[in-house]
Amino acid sequence: MNVLKKIYKEIKKHKKIVLARHIGPDPDALGSTLGLKEIILNTFPNKQVYAVGTPAARHKYIGNLDMFDEKLYEDALLIVLDTPDIKRVDGIDPTRFKHKIKIDHHPIVDKYCDIEYVVDAASSASELVIELVYSTPLKINKEAAEKLYAGLISDTNRFLYSYTTDKTFYLVSWLLKKTNINIIDIYEKMYTMSINEKKLQSYVILNIKITDNKLGYLVLNQEELDELASDAATMTNIVNYLNYTEEMISWVIFAYDKNIDKFRASVRSRGPIINDVASHFNGGGHIFASGARLNNLDEVDDMIKELDKVCEEYNGKNE
Ligand code: AMP
Repeated sequence: MNVLKKIYKEIKKHKKIVLARHIGPDPDALGSTLGLKEIILNTFPNKQVYAVGTPAARHKYIGNLDMFDEKLYEDALLIVLDTPDIKRVDGIDPTRFKHKIKIDHHPIVDKYCDIEYVVDAASSASELVIELVYSTPLKINKEAAEKLYAGLISDTNRFLYSYTTDKTFYLVSWLLKKTNINIIDIYEKMYTMSINEKKLQSYVILNIKITDNKLGYLVLNQEELDELASDAATMTNIVNYLNYTEEMISWVIFAYDKNIDKFRASVRSRGPIINDVASHFNGGGHIFASGARLNNLDEVDDMIKELDKVCEEYNGKNE
């Protein structure tokens, strides 16, 4: 049986379902989870479905999360979305569930579920959920479509990235035809930002350093973040706006996160493969979009050196 049909069968079989995703959720993690919750409830109104994990104030428009009750470990089906490594699953311990499914588009890190639908060439976890509902008797509705569209749009940066394929457009076209959602309303919620955030973008552009090998980097300590009235979480959003700068083929922002007493790195690339470097610094992610957590400024320097080396090698091959 094809894996999507197997996932449908498991969903149909279980009365209680817990949906989880990675820590520090982005719109794709939230959109795929909350979208799938809507789809399951739309198809099977009598099921109990819980989307769990810490909320992210910045993406509140995607929807609310549910409380997790320990009793659910006993008999619920767990579906984890958008999370390749077991240690980054937020809010629950996957090992305590009897039945587990993973739906993900990252390169494989851990195999921790009985059924794993992993397509690392897919644009987003949201695209995989659209594929699931397209391919099985599950039923889409407007609420689900809005969440999934937001997730897919965010992870592809509005269809800019190479993971955007004919299949992505096909599934999105199907979604829009089926539900007639208002995409302009979604963009309004996703892309409207305060003047302070716009100023932050300018600050980053004015202060980023660029190496001879075309690596852009910026390190922000707590003092600088305070002056900018910003925080580490906001920086992962700003990094996306640096794409298509002629002088940079890869770029990284390090921002101190006082909650974990570490520097959070957000790295992007339009050529060099960067997730191997991220994995050396307590991180990981996609080949062109990764994150890491660094203990101190020495590690920050080391990561800059490693990324610069990857850029140098890439330039050597592409001269
Ligand atoms: P971000 O820069 O935070 O938007 O993250 C980009 C990508 O890297 C996403 O796919 C994240 O899931 C992944 N990522 C971010 N931080 C980490 C980390 N500490 N460990 C593993 N993967 C990460």
